[in-house]
Amino acid sequence: MGLLSKGTPLSWQETKRYAEHVRKNGIQQFINQYHQMKDRQGDYLRWGDEIEYMIIKLDHENRKARVSLRSSELLQIICDSKTTNLRELQSLWQPEYGEYILEGTPRHPYGYLVEHLNIVEQNMNFRRKEVQSLLKSDEVILSLTNFPRLGCFDFTSPTTWVDPSSASSHSLFLPEDVITQNHPRFKTLTQNILQRRKEKVAVNVPVYVDLKTPRPFEEDMSKYSGDESCAAAAKKDHIYLDAVGFGAGCCCLQITIQTRNINEARVLYDHLTPLCPVMLALTAASPIFRGYLTDVDSRWDVIAASVDCRTREERSLEPLRNERFVIPKSRHGSVDCYLSTCGSRYNDIPLVYDKNIEQQLLDNKVDKQMALHIAHLFIRDPILLYSERIHQDNANEIDHFENIQSTNWQSMRFKLPSVNKDAGWRVEFRPCEVQLTDYENAAFGVFIVLLTRAILSFNLNMLIPISKVGCYGGNGFQSEYDMFSSSTVGISIQHRREELVPFHPL
Ligand code: GLU
Ligand code: MG
Repeated sequence: MGLLSKGTPLSWQETKRYAEHVRKNGIQQFINQYHQMKDRQGDYLRWGDEIEYMIIKLDHENRKARVSLRSSELLQIICDSKTTNLRELQSLWQPEYGEYILEGTPRHPYGYLVEHLNIVEQNMNFRRKEVQSLLKSDEVILSLTNFPRLGCFDFTSPTTWVDPSSASSHSLFLPEDVITQNHPRFKTLTQNILQRRKEKVAVNVPVYVDLKTPRPFEEDMSKYSGDESCAAAAKKDHIYLDAVGFGAGCCCLQITIQTRNINEARVLYDHLTPLCPVMLALTAASPIFRGYLTDVDSRWDVIAASVDCRTREERSLEPLRNERFVIPKSRHGSVDCYLSTCGSRYNDIPLVYDKNIEQQLLDNKVDKQMALHIAHLFIRDPILLYSERIHQDNANEIDHFENIQSTNWQSMRFKLPSVNKDAGWRVEFRPCEVQLTDYENAAFGVFIVLLTRAILSFNLNMLIPISKVGCYGGNGFQSEYDMFSSSTVGISIQHRREELVPFHPL
């Protein structure tokens, strides 16, 4: 879930004081990196997948499954163990939001040969076995998008208890211990989202109405706490979730693809954008939240609402007095503007962006489309900052830029070349829910990569007006879900007008 810098995270009050500093220096870092790298050419296709896994403990005797809060311990074992040659070659592990989650990637990117497509499943299989071999006999590693009983009574091993008054999320359902211990980022993120928003997050997921579902479906919140604000935030016929962890504690499959140059990255960013809702719908794997069957089947909008740090002014519930913008969407959401020349004519929604930043970028010879893209990402405050990383060398570092970029959790991410120049221009495809088997995860990963080859080789035009890709009216589930059912049906594949420079497929 973003940039894992080393250091001591600052509180929200301190981070807020540096918001302008981070934006100002982040933009300078972008300008420097952009000009150094914009003419970089000829990178090969290299790509990789990221899979987030859950560790589950099975109590066979009582027929119960619980999340096992051991990922920090397991990561430590993986780091400490004498690295075998095999591991050196094959896998890399990172912490994620949940203390029951591990994120695994291939250690080295896959290459451009067709043969590389055949080792993807094998690598995923290796990763799964690698962790499984470290588990106790009653534990399993599962690639599960959401743990169905997350937030129910007795869902963790060891047993943990909620303490709404002291937990960083103030959740009635999620104990503090489910947030990873391994990296301070995640607890601070939880705290800062709440403090920036000035109230608890509130996610209301429509309940699946079956024959015996009570109507209206209403939970008695008083059994969880005496706090009336929760009862007020919980809607009828919905399942109420009240913590960042309900979204950030989900798992997904993400694919990052290196392109030959910046132009190709812009084209792929755009043409994959309308595919995001399609792939989310195809991979949808989370029909249960907090033990209830829901009337949605994917995690997407749960995450969007669970990390929504906008204040009431920004959500236009109160007149704008202290904030800079009214912002229609959470920082987790679908893409709001295309980035390539052919994409720009499909940008048909009013974009919220920082006009001063746009002007600064234009003055520094960044083109209009790119300036808008960046000025749109930079309407956000940094939500997390490390005390050791406040002052940076803008000529050689881009952490301030990455800070804002990596907490804009959009369905696609346009990535700059790395500072050490190892990686070139890249795009990240982020919507897919993780599948139960390596076969399926490999299939979806390979499909996306092959799709990019087809888009580039045949000059396909996948674009539809950006207004049809996402939800721009509000924060409701219904509108987000409309995008999966109606607009995507209308996609027709045409040929792009602009030809790219000749392209070498795999
Ligand atoms: N776990 C998040 C999800 O399910 C993704 C976090 C990340 O960006 O790595 O979408
Ligand atoms: Mg992740």
